[in-house]
Amino acid sequence: MQWPERDAAVVWHGFTDMSAYTDHCPVVVERAEGHELIDTEGRRYLDAISSVWVNTMGHRVPELDQALRDQLDLVAHSTMLGNGNRVVVELAEALAEVVPVADPHFLFASDGASAVEQALKLAFQFWALQGVRGRTTYLAFGSAYHGDTVGSLSLGADDGFGAALFDPLRFPVLRAPGYGDPGCFDVACRLVDDNAGTLAAVVVEPLVQGAAGMRMAPPEGFEALAEACRAADVLLIHDEVATGFGRTGTLFATEQCGRRVRPDLLCLGKGITGGYLPMAVTVASGRIYDAFAGHAFAHGHSYGGNALAAAVALRHLRLLGERDVLANVRERSAQLEARLRSVPGVEAVRVKGLLCGVDVAPGSGRAVCDASVAAGVLLRPIGDTVIVVPPLTITASEVERIVDVLAGAVRDRPGRPV
Ligand SMILES: *Cc1c(COP(=O)(O)O)cnc(C)c1O
Repeated sequence: MQWPERDAAVVWHGFTDMSAYTDHCPVVVERAEGHELIDTEGRRYLDAISSVWVNTMGHRVPELDQALRDQLDLVAHSTMLGNGNRVVVELAEALAEVVPVADPHFLFASDGASAVEQALKLAFQFWALQGVRGRTTYLAFGSAYHGDTVGSLSLGADDGFGAALFDPLRFPVLRAPGYGDPGCFDVACRLVDDNAGTLAAVVVEPLVQGAAGMRMAPPEGFEALAEACRAADVLLIHDEVATGFGRTGTLFATEQCGRRVRPDLLCLGKGITGGYLPMAVTVASGRIYDAFAGHAFAHGHSYGGNALAAAVALRHLRLLGERDVLANVRERSAQLEARLRSVPGVEAVRVKGLLCGVDVAPGSGRAVCDASVAAGVLLRPIGDTVIVVPPLTITASEVERIVDVLAGAVRDRPGRPV
């Protein structure tokens, strides 16, 4: 049996129809070098999706490998429940210097969805602790994606990924339009105003709705939303699981939304360990944290604050600065956008930093990506949007290669409108 068949026989892949799994030539990775993944047959693929947006500086980065090895010689994991771990303290101290949250405190988890779940429950308990009754609902946006646990799924829009299937389990939320609607912030601000007494928090993805197919909104909208939340005393949660750690050209997308925008809660995940280990964190402002004095937060994950992940995350944060990675993101972003706009047959291109969505002809998204993979560039579609999310350290010639392969795949797809 070949590896894809062995894989399909025992491994159940998320968001994948397993009966068709082997039809789409899945890449079964054995190892990697830099920006390339290498499969069990020795074939190489440029990782143009950064292992679904988690990888930042490529694979097997010597400094990150070393940080992991060094931490192994100390301890792999110890619990955060009622106890501490030195490297987790050091990581939180380093993050405190850079996150766009006032007087930040860090609650660690393992997945982005868990960071969102923690933020929802923190907001809920925040009001309860102060004896404020009735602030138990949330406002989220159309096309939003915040993860797959039932709480984060409730925030998600029902127009993608089959969330509607779980409607009987999902709690209802107030819904503003998606970023495709230029009036979405006006509506959101009005909803905040009209529902101040019942809203616990507003949850929003700053600048880019990733899983919606890279839908983008201007910074002024988020500034207006933050102002509306402040005026109505509704908590603001920024979900930067996708946009954090340099993806949009600044360390955090919130930085681009104006100096006055400081969320009460910030969710981070994906790139936090450079794509090495599962780690996520909910960052709470001093105001949230102080409200819990004398009380425990009724929540905690077994592997939250894993020491191996923390050691890699700490080294990674410093490496982003040492290598001036953000400058590369901005340069490669401009190059990628200019090159993609010149590709014939592409219907729309949306780029923010190194988050990029390319709309191709209706019905061709899957085939375009399959053809790109066959040509050695790993891409995945969301519907008919090809998602291009290369590592933050991608080179100019690698950007050329991604665009050339994608252009070839678009050209060769039958049935495209000319
Ligand atoms: C990926 C993502 C999540 C969920 O993170 P997981 O680690 O997959 O649970 C949440 N919010 C946003 C914006 C994301 O892109």
